[in-house]
Amino acid sequence: MEIAKVLIDNSADLILDYKIPRNLVIKIGSRVSIPLKNKNVEGTVIEISKSSPFLKKLKNLSESKNSVKIDKNLILLAKWISKYYVTSLEKVISAIFPKYIKKEITHKRIPKFISLIKTPSSKEEASIEKKAKKQFFILQRLKKEKEKIKITELGKGNFYPAIKSLQKKGFIEIIEETQKTKKTFLKNHPFNLNQNQQKALNKIISSIRNKEKKPILLHGVTGSGKTEIYLQACENILKNQKTAIVLVPEISLTSQIIELFKSRFSEIQDKVYIFHSSLSQEERRNTWNAINENKVKILIGSRSAIFTPMQKLGLIIVDEEHDQSYKQDSSPRYHGRDVAIMRAHIENISIVLGSATPSLESFYNCSKKKYQKIELKNRIYNYSMPLIRVIDMRMQYKQSFGEISQILIEKIKDRIQKKEQTILFINRRGYYSISECKKCGTIKECLHCSIPLVYHYKEECFKCHICEYSEKKQKSTCFSCGKSEISQKKQGTQKIEEDIQKILPKSKVLRIDGDIKLIQEKLDKFQKKQADILVGTQIISKGLHFPNVTLVGVLNADISLNYPEDFRSNEKTFQLLTQVSGRSGRSEKNGEVIIQTFIPHAPAIQFAKNQNYQGYFEQEINFRKKLSYPPFTHLAIIKISSNQKKVAEITAKNFHQKINKKLLLTHPISAFLEKSHDEYHYQFTARHPKGTYLSQILYECLKKNPISKKVKIKIDIDGMFFS
Ligand code: ADP
Ligand code: ZN
Repeated sequence: MEIAKVLIDNSADLILDYKIPRNLVIKIGSRVSIPLKNKNVEGTVIEISKSSPFLKKLKNLSESKNSVKIDKNLILLAKWISKYYVTSLEKVISAIFPKYIKKEITHKRIPKFISLIKTPSSKEEASIEKKAKKQFFILQRLKKEKEKIKITELGKGNFYPAIKSLQKKGFIEIIEETQKTKKTFLKNHPFNLNQNQQKALNKIISSIRNKEKKPILLHGVTGSGKTEIYLQACENILKNQKTAIVLVPEISLTSQIIELFKSRFSEIQDKVYIFHSSLSQEERRNTWNAINENKVKILIGSRSAIFTPMQKLGLIIVDEEHDQSYKQDSSPRYHGRDVAIMRAHIENISIVLGSATPSLESFYNCSKKKYQKIELKNRIYNYSMPLIRVIDMRMQYKQSFGEISQILIEKIKDRIQKKEQTILFINRRGYYSISECKKCGTIKECLHCSIPLVYHYKEECFKCHICEYSEKKQKSTCFSCGKSEISQKKQGTQKIEEDIQKILPKSKVLRIDGDIKLIQEKLDKFQKKQADILVGTQIISKGLHFPNVTLVGVLNADISLNYPEDFRSNEKTFQLLTQVSGRSGRSEKNGEVIIQTFIPHAPAIQFAKNQNYQGYFEQEINFRKKLSYPPFTHLAIIKISSNQKKVAEITAKNFHQKINKKLLLTHPISAFLEKSHDEYHYQFTARHPKGTYLSQILYECLKKNPISKKVKIKIDIDGMFFS
């Protein structure tokens, strides 16, 4: 007799024992249906054992109707995530196996069209007519219509068995979707690798072959040809009948990279799939089903792609491994790169982390010999690195137009003349700005959040960018004095676009923000040189490859240095500036970068200017060591929220006290964003050299001291966002 431990769907981690009937093949990871309180519910088998203390009382389970495969390894991974990130196992499992798949897969996907691909000979036709009336009927219809026909239009009755046999005999094909005009990708042949690339590839291939695996950090300057190495490593994987997952940080990057992969592997372009959270549920379901049916050879996606049940996995690539967008900011708060490393470990496969600006954690792991390091120090064809100039805006203020210095304007003009392109980058999350009254200085805050409202001219209202609260106010009059003009104090991408149009009325400007599909279109346009200037935020800082861009301007380099709570602010600034600079001069034309700042001597800015990763690393790692910050410790951000300020404060202090002796803590203080959606936030950090110990202490403390329902507690292990 075998007993399954079943984790019940949508429960608070309820795990119950059920008997496995002898005639069923049930494994760890199987989806099952079980009786619970007179109802049938679904769940996932997370363990199988020979006995149970409740053996006599146990009920039987049955197979779930959906035939999905989550294998043992994914369950192991889920258990690790749940433990390490101090989060519910059920939530993790539902991230691996999302609801939209659960629902739909029960009734099988219905193919929509069929078409004739081979006309049967008269002899074959006669035999079909005799033996299989329905098949004969279908053939006649297809011959008459000469086009694909909708299956539902065949008439009443079940035609599927007949369609299936005709397909088997090779007469017809089944077309699953309304065929969108599919783009076909022309073969793009592999480059001859340069010596350094070849060395890097050899190391990856030998890791793939070796039994002993160590993560590989591919540290290559921007434009050094990392992507080409990924492509050729995947080629090797495909040759060995294995599959690969390629993670990219930002959804906007998937389209450039997917084109590359589809054209490189044009023979199997229908086996290269994409998976990320901005796809529609249907698109994601299609990809997921294709994976489940073993149809996917290469999967490219953002962090959640690491959870897909890819089979015969041989390689995981994490591009731009340092990127913050790998960290999920809602529960389960996992880090995509670290989950990828764990998955590679569990499956004993190779993993490559690529970056021009590796995270301190990964680079430090190399020096500890936990990871192997490969370096690419030069750009392809030894194209020169861009020339970087730091502009001290304190001196330039008078000569600048809004946020754009005179020097930068001159450079842009020069590029337009040469028909080269410019990227202007604004360092800002979303587009925070402040509307201030020019006369009395009043800044109106949101009633529900502790941030200033922003005036939207088109809609004639003040809006909160966090909770969407808005107040109508015509002609941007001040709330306090009622007369003066409101001025936008810190402007976003929109204002920059306007300014440029004023200074250079003939230039064509594209602004990137908002909807992902639009972003894609704009990037395409820019690629096709239909614009001179691209203005945007974080999203355009990394990965993109525009050979005709020879000038990059960073309008406000220091913004992210102004977050005192965030011990990573230097790291983030250095990475951002290096990445943005990397968009310039990616071909034989020399690139130039203009960094505008009010603190030109900040080390992060200087190291980025000199393109000195090693120098930056050494300085930063010393600072971290002295203050016991990661990578010397693991760090959790603990945030406690309540609609009563005092309650949040007291709860935070109590929780703090409970773990005070065991972990290294900072004081609980109001969060940077003190209030949002009518809730007050208190926050502190906890550190310990051992990550598992940190998680365990926090877990136990939560368990022993249940927190009142009026209070929310958020534990973010290896947290990166201090807002
Ligand atoms: P990275 O990812 O390191 O920033 P890319 O992989 O985007 O760099 O490479 C930059 C450019 O160089 C791309 O256009 C790529 O096609 C080209 N490239 C890469 N490897 C080679 C090679 N061995 N020979 C010629 N061109 C190459
Ligand atoms: Zn608000």
